[in-house]
Formats: sequence, C-alpha cells, structure tokens
Amino acid sequence: MVIAIVGAGLGGLALARVLQVNGIDAVVYEREASRDARGQGGMLDIHSGQRALRVAGLIDQFHAIARPEGQDMRLLEPNGTLLLQQDTPPDAPSERPEVDRGDLRNLLLDSLPGHTVRWGHAFASADNGVARFTDGRTAPFDLLVGADGADSRVRGLLTDARPAHTGQNAVELGIPDVDRTHPDLAAMVGRGNYWVLGNGRSLSAQRGGDGRVRVYLSFYSTAEDWFATSAIPFEDPAAARTRLIDLFTGWDPRFTALIAACDDMIVPRSIMTLPAGLTWPARPDVTLLGDAAHLMPPVGQGANMALLDGALLGLALAAHPGDFPAAVKEYEREMFERTSAAARRSAAVQEMLTAPDASRRMLAFFQPD
Ligand SMILES: Cc1cc2nc3c(=O)[nH]c(=O)nc-3n(C[C@H](O)[C@H](O)[C@H](O)COP(=O)(O)OP(=O)(O)OC[C@H]3O[C@@H](n4cnc5c(N)ncnc54)[C@H](O)[C@@H]3O)c2cc1C
Repeated sequence: MVIAIVGAGLGGLALARVLQVNGIDAVVYEREASRDARGQGGMLDIHSGQRALRVAGLIDQFHAIARPEGQDMRLLEPNGTLLLQQDTPPDAPSERPEVDRGDLRNLLLDSLPGHTVRWGHAFASADNGVARFTDGRTAPFDLLVGADGADSRVRGLLTDARPAHTGQNAVELGIPDVDRTHPDLAAMVGRGNYWVLGNGRSLSAQRGGDGRVRVYLSFYSTAEDWFATSAIPFEDPAAARTRLIDLFTGWDPRFTALIAACDDMIVPRSIMTLPAGLTWPARPDVTLLGDAAHLMPPVGQGANMALLDGALLGLALAAHPGDFPAAVKEYEREMFERTSAAARRSAAVQEMLTAPDASRRMLAFFQPD
C-alpha cells in the first residue's frame, strides 16, 4: 500500500516522519531540485505545532534550535509612540518560541531516511491511482496526500475552491548581518518582533537566527493588481527602496531608516486565502493538509496547523492499518474543525490589522485588561 505525499514543506515532512516513527513507509515528491534550491527565509512562531513535534519524537531537537527570546515584542504607532514592550525573561516557558523556517525544515528532513524525499518531481495530475509529474514521469499510489502549499495542484482533485486575494499586498526586505552593519537599528528592533501599525499600512521587523533582520511592509485594502499600479520598480532595488520610503511618508524617520538599510533582495507577496471553513466530500484515496487545505492570512497559525495536520494524519493512518478511507475520514473530521477555528481567528486578527486604529486594537488584543 503506497502513500504518496506531494510537497516537502513542514506539513508533508511532519506526516512522513510520524509515519516512519510508526513503521509505515511513504514517499514524498517535491518539485524543488534539492533541499537548498530555494531560500526558506523567515522566522515562524511555533505554539500548537509543538504537539506535532512531540508526536514526531523531535521536541528536544526543536528546543535546541528554537529562539525563546524571539517572543519579545515591541508595538509602536507610526508617529513613534511605543505602545507595548514585552521582553521574555530568561526562565520564561517557551510557549511560542521563534524558529528559523529553514532550520525546522532541515530538522524534519534529517529525521527521515535519505530515500524518502524524491526531489525534482513537480506533480501535475492524478487518476486511477497514478500520479503524473510535469516531466512525464509517473508513480503509483493508494493514498495521495496533497501537502503542496498555497498553489496546490492536488487540491483540484477534491474541490473547485481557489485562493482569493485578501486586500493585503506585502513586500519583504532584509538587513544582513545587522549587528555589524547597523547596530543602532539592531538595538531598536531588539531580539524579537518589532511592529508598527497604522494608516492602512504596517511595518514589521524581525531578527532571524542568522543575524538578518527581515522587514515586512504591508499595504492593506489594496487591489489584487496593486503591484502593477504602485510604481515600485522591483527591477531596480535602490529605486524600489526610495519608492517604498515614499509610501511611508509621515512615519517617524526611525522606521523608514529600516527600509533604507535593506539590501537588494526585495520580494513582493500578494496575500491570498482559501475560504475559512472549507470542506470537501471525502475521497478514500486523496486528502490534503497544510496550506493546500486551508490557506489563511500569515498571522501565526499556518505552519502550526500544517505540522499538526501532518502529525495527526500520520497517527490516524497508524491507528487504521491498511484502512485508508477510515483514517482519512477520522483525520478530516478533526482537521476541518480545528483549522476552521484557526482560520476564523486569523481572519479576525487580519481585520484588526486593516483598521485605521490598528495599533490601538492590537494593543487591546495583547493586553485585554
Ligand atoms: C511571510 C510569512 C510569514 C509566516 N509566518 C508564520 C508564523 O510565524 N507562524 C505560522 O504558523 N505560520 C506562518 N506562516 C504560514 C506558513 O508559512 C505556512 O502556513 C506553512 O509553511 C504551510 O506549510 P505547508 O507544508 O502546507 O506548505 P509549504 O511550506 O508551502 O510547502 C509546500 C511544499 O510543496 C512543494 N510543492 C508545491 N507545488 C508542488 C508540486 N506541484 N509538486 C511537488 N511539490 C510541490 C513546495 O515546493 C513546498 O516545498 C507565514 C507565511 C508567510 C508567507
């Protein structure tokens, strides 16, 4: 009985690992040519996903690579007012430690036998128990798991739902080796999350374990084609930074100094989501997990849900040896309920970020009393 997983992201790898721990083989087909083919970038805060890492037998190794101090937070208004500063005490429990996405993916990859992931396999379609890849190769399966992220190709086997634009367009930039190149900005950002919100925009900065500060600029209530109309010349990074600074006119110059200090890696991202609460009629031989199943706004749930999906599908398959339909049914029932709640919470946070008084609303969110 062959389990084929499409996508070696966090969710697909968590599934492969939990299956392996339970003595069940699986093959992961990944379109990237190798684990280093694409920078994984960015930090993730891992909370409920820690349960998945415990099930996968990797929780101690996770804590060894996690950064509890990454939980620090500073929340500010565009005029420079500091609304909230939360510093993590050295003995604080690691409830939401930050981890470098690449380190977490490597932890999962290194836990699997080398032959588990078949690199360079871009899934194209499937029928009658045969998966087809874009280069014409094929592979048989008894259960196909789409763990292929936001733009899933497997999703179409189960539902016609497609991701829709949220009204948020974001630009990712970064300051390399910040302690050496810009110690003043390093001190300003601190060890964790630095967040400025207001006027339909946000600027967030976050220190990574590699000494790079990633800067995310978000533009809310903007159209799906906003990048085409925003006059940001992405092909000329210096001019793009100048234009981005213009778009933050009126903000405290300490914030725009962060944009000016960034290097030439500038990545535009249109933020898309699937409808919260998406379900589909069960199929005995195909299911989805992670962003493929429930793409939500990037406010700290997606990676945790993907890890949990993978671990819990793995446990369901182990609990129903050889009975894939029963395992898929059990997994989907729990997954739909858990992830629709997470998607609704994420949508509520997203709505707060869009509001004109976003910083005050976020302050009330973090300090309810
Ligand atoms: C800027 C940003 C910050 C975020 N921060 C957080 C956070 O702090 N906390 C949090 O919980 N979540 C966060 N998220 C969300 C999180 O990154 C995703 O929800 C999570 O990575 C989803 O994991 P996944 O395994 O489902 O998909 P992915 O990680 O996207 O992996 C999918 C894999 O499938 C492969 N693939 C795609 N198509 C094919 C194909 N046709 N054939 C074969 N392989 C294919 C891809 O190459 C990839 O390796 C953030 C997202 C963004 C954009």
